[in-house]
Amino acid sequence: MLLTGFFERGYAARDFSNFDAQSQHLLVRHDIDMSISAAHEIASLERDIGVTSTYFVLLRSELYSPFSESGRTDLMKLAELGHEIGLHLDASLYADEATALDEAAAWECDLLERLIDQPVRIISLHRPVQSLIDTENTLGGRPHTYQRRYFSEIGYCSDSRGEWGHGHPFEHQAITNKSALQLLTHPIWWTGEAANPTVRLDRFLRGRHETLGCALAENCSIFEMGGKV
Ligand SMILES: [Zn+2]
Repeated sequence: MLLTGFFERGYAARDFSNFDAQSQHLLVRHDIDMSISAAHEIASLERDIGVTSTYFVLLRSELYSPFSESGRTDLMKLAELGHEIGLHLDASLYADEATALDEAAAWECDLLERLIDQPVRIISLHRPVQSLIDTENTLGGRPHTYQRRYFSEIGYCSDSRGEWGHGHPFEHQAITNKSALQLLTHPIWWTGEAANPTVRLDRFLRGRHETLGCALAENCSIFEMGGKV
């Protein structure tokens, strides 16, 4: 497991509110872009090796809903395993203006806090534009993971699009320097049978299609009569 490799190199998992940039501290972040159930699978594996990390959930995605019965159940399981839940904010849904985004962040955090009945202490941005990266500003009165202290003042490594775009994390300069690193992964790339990113996405799509088929059958007898589930 990837995390074990960090621990073998002397790293310890810390959360975003409690780390030292000059120490071997690993900030484990998961952005839930596609599936909360995939996140739950990772969360259980982490729990087995004594790691707690932060999972960031989208409230306004076309791909899943944390407000659905299964979505909320999986989300609450993450919290029960001891992981932190943060907001994954899609800034593209709001006006490209600082005050509007700040208000949107506060609004979404409030909704998420009501949903999970616990404080939301940190935000990560979904596919942020360059102007939102490497800044000092807060969002909705909370820190966010692209602030300098998490992004450029420590190491940063991400598995976006299913690959390590800037080299494997163990080759990162922060590892050589024995300093802190933020590791971003997306659960969809790490669950189920190993496969390339395209195959994984296809598998995800087929799973969603099946779920939608079941939901349609439950909600509309015409679909069931059509015999397709
Ligand atoms: Zn995202």
